Amino acid sequence: MPRALDPAIRQAIAERLRFYRDLGLTDFYRRPVDPALLAELASGVPEDLGSVPSSDKEKGAPSFPQPFAERVGNHEPQSANTQPNSFAEEPAIPPRKNIPPAPEIGAAVAPADRSAALLQIVEDIGDCKRCALHTGRHSIVFGQGDANARLMFVGEGPGADEDAQGLPFVGRAGQLLNNMITAMGLAREETYICNVVKCRPPGNRTPEPDEANTCSQFLFRQIDVVRPQVIVALGATAATYLLGARQPLAGLRGRIHAFRGMSLIVTYHPAYLLRDPRQKKEAWADLQIAMKELGLKARARIG
Ligand code: URA
Repeated sequence: MPRALDPAIRQAIAERLRFYRDLGLTDFYRRPVDPALLAELASGVPEDLGSVPSSDKEKGAPSFPQPFAERVGNHEPQSANTQPNSFAEEPAIPPRKNIPPAPEIGAAVAPADRSAALLQIVEDIGDCKRCALHTGRHSIVFGQGDANARLMFVGEGPGADEDAQGLPFVGRAGQLLNNMITAMGLAREETYICNVVKCRPPGNRTPEPDEANTCSQFLFRQIDVVRPQVIVALGATAATYLLGARQPLAGLRGRIHAFRGMSLIVTYHPAYLLRDPRQKKEAWADLQIAMKELGLKARARIG
């Protein structure tokens, strides 16, 4: 029988795996375990290995000159239940599974008809029970913003705050996203914000491929209705299900991907930036690519 892991170590491993996932590292292989080492472990874990700091990544992190850096400190404390509960509930690395091909691009919708077309998608989703996520949700978090937005953000899935309010990115990560949007010279209301999955995964775990693949038909419809000039995929999950392939985030960032007649830019998820603020500089570089596409000027200056 495998020994139960110390909860602190479990938590630290889960955090580290999420960190790797945010970087786009998703495939891991287990080394064969030496039986002599197992016997040694069975005799007791040394105390100094048992207490792992919850986050060593933020230690010594420099303060950030990026336009959205100073305002990051204004976050409300994160609700306790927005954190993943346990390693068991957070399979940070979803199983390898094929991603179905993206649906054909939908017919163009006239700007005046886009709000109604989005409402039609809401109606089609209905009281959705297409995947297991419906069992734990309070709200279906469809999306929010201007139906004629030139810029769309796609995240992973609602957290506890979003599930409670029925709106995307209204928690701590949402506040950072708001700051990013402001720094780009826009107001949140001028953009459109949605997620790969519309229901909160339990414990904020990564959506399972079946859940994401089931829900993404509605995301593609939303995208085809709004037809923004630029889409920013926030994090590895959004990038994976939009581009239809699991690839390291590092290889996807920093450039424009042609996507259904639009420009898609991949950057870090704001929740990841909260955990590792050192990457904000990189995220800002990605957002500047989006701004160039949109002819926007930064509201705040770097430096
Ligand atoms: N994280 C996401 O990916 N989406 C949200 O709506 C909130 C947090």
